[in-house]
Amino acid sequence: HSKEKGGSVAHFFNESMRNKYEDRLLIENSLRLVVDKGDFDLYYQPKFQFGKITSMEALIRWIDPELGFVSPGTFIPIAEEIGLILQIDRWSLIHACKQNKEWQDQGYPKIPVSVNISAKQFQQDSLVSMVKEALEVSGLAPEYIKLEITESVFIKNLDYVANIVKQLKEIGVKISIDDFGKGYSSLYPLLQLPIDEIKIDRQFISDIDQMMKKSRLVQSILSMAKGLQLNVVAEGIETIGEKNTLMQMGCDELQGYLFSPPVNAQEMETLLSEYLSKKYI
Ligand code: C2E
Ligand code: MG
Ligand code: MG
Ligand code: MG
Repeated sequence: HSKEKGGSVAHFFNESMRNKYEDRLLIENSLRLVVDKGDFDLYYQPKFQFGKITSMEALIRWIDPELGFVSPGTFIPIAEEIGLILQIDRWSLIHACKQNKEWQDQGYPKIPVSVNISAKQFQQDSLVSMVKEALEVSGLAPEYIKLEITESVFIKNLDYVANIVKQLKEIGVKISIDDFGKGYSSLYPLLQLPIDEIKIDRQFISDIDQMMKKSRLVQSILSMAKGLQLNVVAEGIETIGEKNTLMQMGCDELQGYLFSPPVNAQEMETLLSEYLSKKYI
């Protein structure tokens, strides 16, 4: 009997393993096709300061005809592994620049856009030329671009990364550290590199109004950031309590489902046109 049971467990295990493997292959193959066609969509999530939109973040969206919606949390790491991330980030960057310029030309308020850039871009020499290309083809002024990079960029080759960051700053774009505090959190890059902004990771934000230790930690991050004249964004704000706490602490910009989820370009236009008249939460 136990052998039978073991057999069925093993069978179940193999089956789920096989499905995972097949899913992964499906995603890889579909991803190669969509990257060639550039058939993604770009969503935008606004960031707020005293109830007004001050900037926005571009977030890639992929709806596959067969797989349906595949979240970037799933396909970005796969794209990094199979060598497609350079093309994906290039698509996001160029698309975000063109859209931002178009909005400015149409008379919408001039608001910068942040674009997520994979750490893998820092292993190539192409990032600087990619940024130049995006600014050229869009005609967007560089001060409207912020590049969101994660701390893992700084793990090795700090000198090499510093050189790329320096070139990016010379072009005139801004640099933000995404998911700050989540990973290895060395403070050394903040000392050595001309970073403009940190985005405090959601795990430090959730329930901050109910957790003394968390709020003290974030308060300390904020005073450090102020001392270094960094712009501070809190990501993933979902409740009024979290919002109130972070506003009281003097956090510069707030972002999260409480204010708005990421929305498509058309919905973003509605938010932007309400920009001057309507006060958000
Ligand atoms: P991220 O840059 O840290 O973006 C924040 C993620 O949190 C987004 O997920 C956003 O939709 C989600 N979010 C925003 N507000 C809230 C909230 O209040 N609660 C919760 N639970 N989540 C919230 P999304 O769009 O699924 O993107 C996931 C990650 O994929 C991003 O994390 C970013 O690292 C990456 N990504 C997205 N687009 C690109 C891209 O074009 N290039 C690269 N390299 N990475 C990208
Ligand atoms: Mg981001
Ligand atoms: Mg990111
Ligand atoms: Mg983040």
